[in-house]
Formats: sequence, structure tokens, C-alpha cells
Amino acid sequence: MKINIKELFEEHDIKINDSQVEKLEKYYEILVDWNSKINLTAITDYEDVLKKHFLDSIYLIKHFDFNNKFLLDVGSGAGFPSLPLKIMVPSLDVTIIDALKKRISFLEILTKEIDLKAKLIHGRAEEFKNRNYYDFVTARAVARLNILSELCIPFVKVGGLFLPLKGPKYEEELDESLNGIKTLGGRYIQTINFQIDDNSRSVLKIEKVSNTNKLYPRQFGKIKSKPL
Ligand code: SAM
Repeated sequence: MKINIKELFEEHDIKINDSQVEKLEKYYEILVDWNSKINLTAITDYEDVLKKHFLDSIYLIKHFDFNNKFLLDVGSGAGFPSLPLKIMVPSLDVTIIDALKKRISFLEILTKEIDLKAKLIHGRAEEFKNRNYYDFVTARAVARLNILSELCIPFVKVGGLFLPLKGPKYEEELDESLNGIKTLGGRYIQTINFQIDDNSRSVLKIEKVSNTNKLYPRQFGKIKSKPL
């Protein structure tokens, strides 16, 4: 039997209204339809998409207030986590940057079909210009944290948060990234752990405490070969 979105979300203490359910259902249909033409996700089963893409993205609203805030999602791919967040918090101002043109083209179609407003940018994060600007910068499944920090922290405003979504092995990544986070003007605060079925998930809370030096981000070759 098809799993019920409302019941699933209620099990996780997340309230969702009928119009939001409708948007997520449409999102699923469009995602699976386009996935047969362009590679967007390896996860296509309805229940898996609900849990591993939608719920995983939306979990953030339990811990952070996104109302009327500015969020940048780096390497959003098929829209995760920012577009499910936008469905749940319509006042959230979402900007997406992704290096793959076909994914941005997909997002243009998707956001039109489900009537979501978001700024969609085809480009590389390390070349982006809106420094020290966003209340939140999110990224999921884009790069290891020591590399990802340089792709994301420069764009967080002072007082804002960098929220990388990671799996259970985040600790090793965090250890090797703490110096770099500091160099970029960030400060690690805590990790929020949660569970969706057997999957352990973690969101790292990294605060921006001072503006990032203009030296960063460097060109991608340097970020990769000499992580901070
Ligand atoms: N965040 C999505 C998710 O969790 O399903 C997509 C993850 S996908 C594995 C990684 C995405 O990051 C790809 O769409 C890729 O184009 C993008 N990406 C990787 N490096 C990037 C960079 N430096 N700037 C912008 N996008 C980047």
C-alpha cells in the first residue's frame, strides 16, 4: 500500500497541510518522469523518495526557523534540501547554485510546475559573488566537509549558519575540517542527529563569526589539492 505523507510526517512530529502534500506528490511525479531522461537521482521508489529526499530535507525545520530568511543551497541537484524546505516554509527566500546545466534546467521546469519561487543559478559555488550574505547555506552530498566548507562558508553572513547534511561518519570529516572552518570565519557549534528508519542522519551547525577573507574561496583545483 502507498505510504501516506501526512502520517509519515506526523510520526516525525512535522505538521503538513493538504496543499504541501499535493506539491510533494507532484514533485515526486516530475522527478521520476525526468529521471528517465536525465540522471537526477538513484532513488526513485515512492517511499524512499519521501523518506530519503523529502523528509531528510524537511527535518531541518524542526531545528531552525526559516521564516523570512535567505538560504543558499550549494549543489542542490534535483532540489535537495532547499525545495522541500521552500514547500514547507513559503516565506523562505531560496537561491540554488549548481554546476550542472541540465539539473538547473530540470529545476526551472519543476519550480514552474509546482509554483515555487526560487533563484536558480547555473554555476560553480567557488565563483559565486554573494559573499557574507545568506542566513543559511545548506549542502547535501556535494563534497567532503574540508572541501565543502570553502564552497559554502564564504556566502554565509555573520551570525548566519552553514548547515551541511551528512551521514553517520561525519566525525572524521569534522576533525579534519575544524581548522579550515576557523580560517573561513566559521565556528562549529554542535551536531544535530536524527534517525529516519535505519538511517542515521546528521546536520552540522556551523556559525559564521567573522567575514571570510577575500582569499577564499580559491579556485577549485586548489581547494581540492590543498584543503584548508
Ligand atoms: N544536494 C543534492 C542531493 O542531496 O540530492 C544533489 C547531490 S549531487 C550528488 C551533487 C551536486 O553538486 C551535483 O548536482 C553537482 O553538479 C553539484 N556540484 C558539485 N560541485 C559543485 C560546485 N563546486 N559548485 C556548484 N555545484 C556543484
